Amino acid sequence: MDFTSIHVLLTYECNFECDHCFVWGSPRQTGTFTLEKLEAVFQQALALNHVREFYFEGGEAFLYYAILVRAVMRATELGFATGIVTNGYWATNIEDALAWLRPLVAAGLDAIDISYDLFHGNTDPAPPLHPGVMAARQLGLAVDTITIDPPTGYRDPAAAVPGEAIAGGGVMYRGRAAETLTAALPTEPRASFDSCPYEDLVNPDRIHLDPFGNLHVCQGVVIGNVFQRPLAEIAASYEPALHPIVGPLLAGGPAQLARFYHLALEDGYVDACHLCYCARQLLRPQFTAVLRPDHMYGVVGDS
Ligand code: SF4
Repeated sequence: MDFTSIHVLLTYECNFECDHCFVWGSPRQTGTFTLEKLEAVFQQALALNHVREFYFEGGEAFLYYAILVRAVMRATELGFATGIVTNGYWATNIEDALAWLRPLVAAGLDAIDISYDLFHGNTDPAPPLHPGVMAARQLGLAVDTITIDPPTGYRDPAAAVPGEAIAGGGVMYRGRAAETLTAALPTEPRASFDSCPYEDLVNPDRIHLDPFGNLHVCQGVVIGNVFQRPLAEIAASYEPALHPIVGPLLAGGPAQLARFYHLALEDGYVDACHLCYCARQLLRPQFTAVLRPDHMYGVVGDS
């Protein structure tokens, strides 16, 4: 593995509880990186020699603002590029957004991605430019927005309420989305989901790391724990075909994962991630070391 980017889930906590959230972010979640643990991760990444960038996300990373600023500063000192993914709740107007962003820019922040749509607490379907975006541009940050497309494809058009369920338009039905958004949506036969459409499970360019040290090739599919084994060792010893979840996924997608373990599942699913997530939920008791933490599977509390 020679991933160049590590996406740090600074915390599982979030001020929102969005329907589509892959990681079950919530005000009721727990689990946040400490500075000491972040430093250990930075040192492990330096030893790897192919990590170029750290992204800090969550949950909502701005909820732990002091840790976030320090993390950006330290990563920058060590020569990594840095970015943040945020729901932008803190940007209530441009002046305040500038106040939030200036210490991060001084710490060396390069980029910010702001989630900005009806799914992230906005109520205006055609809102003006987000104050966080305007402030970030003023400060010279590379800025992007993450927006989920308008709803389409309901079985029952009357159910097409913004902020509830969508089909198409970029939602992948993993995590909370698989449990809260799928009920009214059209499905396809289980066998049709014969590959993983979104993640490079063999040699991903970016990898996710949570506050408990779990290294995820997809949210909830863990290949090692950096607080138990160094990143370099995990990366060097990773054998995707032998991983109990990744192996079947590579052989034939979520359909093969279900077949391989003879899982009793429905005939139809909304997308590949929906089937994958439901199959993994059934497999969790058997594979506790790699299908974790509880947070990724809808359990609120510490792992
Ligand atoms: S099919 Fe499974 S492994 Fe692939 S992106 Fe979807 S949830 Fe992740």
